[in-house]
Amino acid sequence: MLRAFFVHLSENRTLRNFAERSALGHRVSSRFVAGTEIADAVRATQAVNQAGMSVSIDNLGENVTNPDEARHSAQLYQQILDAIGANHLNGNISLKLTHMGLDVDEQLARELVSTLVAKAAAMNPPGFVRVDMEGSPYTQRTLDFVHELHRMPGNGNSVGTVIQAYLKRSEKDVENLLADGIRIRLCKGAYKEPASIAYESKSDVDANYIKLMKTLMKSGIYHGMATHDVNIIREGEAFARKEKIAPEAFEFQMLYGIRRDLQQSLVRDGWRVRVYIPFGTEWYPYFMRRLGERPANVFFIARNLLRP
Ligand code: FAD
Repeated sequence: MLRAFFVHLSENRTLRNFAERSALGHRVSSRFVAGTEIADAVRATQAVNQAGMSVSIDNLGENVTNPDEARHSAQLYQQILDAIGANHLNGNISLKLTHMGLDVDEQLARELVSTLVAKAAAMNPPGFVRVDMEGSPYTQRTLDFVHELHRMPGNGNSVGTVIQAYLKRSEKDVENLLADGIRIRLCKGAYKEPASIAYESKSDVDANYIKLMKTLMKSGIYHGMATHDVNIIREGEAFARKEKIAPEAFEFQMLYGIRRDLQQSLVRDGWRVRVYIPFGTEWYPYFMRRLGERPANVFFIARNLLRP
C-alpha cells in the first residue's frame, strides 16, 4: 500500500516542481542521486570503479514533451559516452525511451537511440546501451524497439534491455530476447501494475525472479541480475556454483546508495557487481520510487537531515 502511495506521489507535478527546484530537495535526494551534472556522475563512477565495480550511468528524466527536449536528452547521453571514453571509466549508459521522445515522435526516438548505440558500439573498448523498462504501456514497444536496434548491423553486442519479474508475460519475453541473443537486466519491477498482468505478492514475484534468473544464467549470454534482495542473491550464487557458471559470465546490479555493504561483500567474494548511477535535475520520480520500496528510507533520510 505504501509503495503504491509513493508511486502516486512520484506522479504529482506540483510536488515535483517544488522538490526539484529546492535546495532541501537536492540535499534529501543526494543519498540516491549522484548530483545534477555529468561531472558529478563521473566522480561517482570513479569512486565506484575504485571500489572494484562497474557502473551504468542514467541521466534522470522521463516523458519529454517535445522533440527539442528529446534531442537535448540524447545530446547529454552523447556527452556521457564521451566522458566514459575520455576518463577511461568502466561503465555503460542506461536510458528510457520516453526520455528519448517515444511518445512525441517514435521515428525521432528511433534515430536518437540508434545513433547512441552506434556510437557505443564504435568505442574502444565497445560501449553498451541499456534500454530501461518503464510501465506496462511501454513493455511491448520497448521490446520491439530493442529487437530492432539489436538487428542493425554492428549493434549486436551494444544494446540490451530490462525484464520485470512481476509481469506475468516476462517468461515469454525472456524466451524471445534469448532467441535473438539479447542481453537482459532482470529486475522485480518498480511501477504500479494491475493484478491482471502482474504478480501481486512478494513471494510470487520472487519465485518468478528466481526462475527467470536461472534461465538467464544458463543461457550462455552475459546478463545482469538487478536486485538488493539478499535471499535471491544467495540463491543466484548457489546456482552459479552448482551449475559451474563462471563468476565472469554474469553480474549482479544494484542502485547507487543502496546496500553498499552487500555490493562490497559480493566483490570481496569474487562476483561482478555493477552500480546504477542516476544523476540529473529531474530526479523526483526516481527518488520517490526508491522511497516507496523501503519506507525505512524516509526515516533514514530524515535522521541524516537532522544531523548537524
Ligand atoms: P525488494 O524486495 O524490493 O527489496 C529487497 C531488499 O532490498 C529490501 O528488504 C531492502 O533490504 C533492500 N532494498 C530494496 N530497495 C531498497 C531501497 N530503495 N532502499 C534501501 N534498501 C532497499 N525497475 C524497473 O521497473 N525498470 C528498470 O529498468 C529498472 N532498472 C533497475 C536497475 C537496477 C540496477 C536495479 C537494482 C533496479 C532497477 N529497477 C528497475 C528497480 C527494481 O525493479 C526494483 O523496484 C528495486 O530494485 C527494488 O527491488 P529489489 O529487487 O531490490 O527487491
